[in-house]
This record gives sequence, structure tokens and C-alpha cells, in this order.
Amino acid sequence: MAGLLHDAQPDADVTDERFDAWLSANALSFLEEAYYGTSGEQGETVREGHAQHRGAREAVLALSDAGFAPVWRWFVPRAGTLQIYLGGLLDEASSAGPSAALRIGERLADLASSITPFVDQIWDFDGAVLVAADVPLGEHVPARTEADASGAAAGVVAAGSPEFDALVRLDDPTVVVKDEEGSGADRMMTPRLAELVGVLAAHVAQAFPGRRLRLTEAWDPDGEHSHSSLHYEGRAADLTVDDRDRAKLGRLAALAVQTGFDWVLHENDHVHVSVRAG
Ligand SMILES: [Zn+2]
Repeated sequence: MAGLLHDAQPDADVTDERFDAWLSANALSFLEEAYYGTSGEQGETVREGHAQHRGAREAVLALSDAGFAPVWRWFVPRAGTLQIYLGGLLDEASSAGPSAALRIGERLADLASSITPFVDQIWDFDGAVLVAADVPLGEHVPARTEADASGAAAGVVAAGSPEFDALVRLDDPTVVVKDEEGSGADRMMTPRLAELVGVLAAHVAQAFPGRRLRLTEAWDPDGEHSHSSLHYEGRAADLTVDDRDRAKLGRLAALAVQTGFDWVLHENDHVHVSVRAG
């Protein structure tokens, strides 16, 4: 485990004691959550990962000099993935402290040729998501509600209102726009949403060579969504890959999580994303 984590952090200074402490905290956290988590509680695993990441980060920062900015990574396991491998090893690791966690990690490394099948997310030192697993149909990231993650709906933004004037028009050649209404309405969105859609388009071009991101809807002035929809404010977008292949939506949703949208939902025939106001 520790060896795998170590190998996965090529920019780290391997001689740094703080890095070894970071690695131990990460390994113990990973083992605990991969063992005690269950398949139905991935959201809880991610929340716990966030709490442990914050604690380890604050401890490292408290020890560090000004300007300390490493690219260390925090691995969040898929809930319950290691039960079949670990057996009682975790109790040994927990009772004997970080050095035992590292030893257990070496034994784990013999069992797994790659850490990837066990990882749900990888965060950088600042908590941004670097790698996310595919999002299953019907699931959303983060685990909390859209209103909690992106902020409650404030109501319909009408054309010509001051709020409408604050929207921007997405004219990005790397994004295919459906423009269902033929009015350009689907291109209207908040600046934050437009910026993230542009970043996601680059991720899509890299993940699916020859393909582009497709935008089916953003701002909706026509009341086509539920009463609390963030589409009415231009804070939500519906997306697919331009071949409309549903088999790509789980990966598209994962790329959206990595891009930094505040809430991502894998719906039946598209991925819905939303962002906070401002
Ligand atoms: Zn939507």
C-alpha cells in the first residue's frame, strides 16, 4: 500500500519526513475505509476521506516553512474493496500505529498489481479532485444534495433582467451546441459554468480522441424543468459526448467531477452539472 502510494506521487521529495508522515496517514486512512466501508456507503467514505485529508493537511502545514507547496496526493478507496484481501490485518495496523500501517502496506502491495481498481478518487494537497472513478447511472457526486452543493435555487432569470445581463454566451468551437430552441438560449450560462464547460471540453477531447463535448441545455427560460431547477438561472448544464453514446456517460461524469463542477449527476441520457452562484 505505502509502496503503491509512494510510486503514485512522483513529484514528492522522498527524503522528507513530512512526506513519510503524510504517507502513513494516507495508508492508514485508506486501509480503514477500504475495509470498513461497504458498497452502499461510498459517499460516507468520501466524506471521511475529506475529514482525514484536512487533518493530515493541517498537520503538515503546521510543521512546514513558508512557501511549502508539495504535490502530494490523497487516495480515497472504493468502499469495502479490500475486505477480501485484508481479513484481520487492519486490526493489527490500527493497534500498532503508523509504522505497522506501512508494513501492512507492503504486504498489500504483493496482493494488488495496481492501486487503481481500489481507488474512487485521488485529491491533491489542496483537496481538488485529480482522478475520479466512473459515476454509475443514477448516482451523483458529491453525495449531498444539489441544493447543498451548488446552493438553493433563487428563481427564474428572465430575459432582459439584470441577472440575465450577467450571463455569458458560450461560443466555444470545442463544444457542440444542440440549440434545441434555435434561439441561442442554450448557450447562455453564468461565467463560472462557461469556464468549467470549456475545461471539460478539453478533458473530453483527450479522453475520447476525435470526439467533442455536446451541450444540450443550459439556461432555460421556458419552464421545462422542475420548479427548483438551476437551469432557470443558467447555473446548470446538460451534457453528452457528441456521438450521444450512453456508454460514455459514466466516464463523462467522472471527467466533470475532476473539472470541478460543484454537483454532477449521471442521468439516463445525459450528465447534469451545476455550479454555485458567482
Ligand atoms: Zn439538467
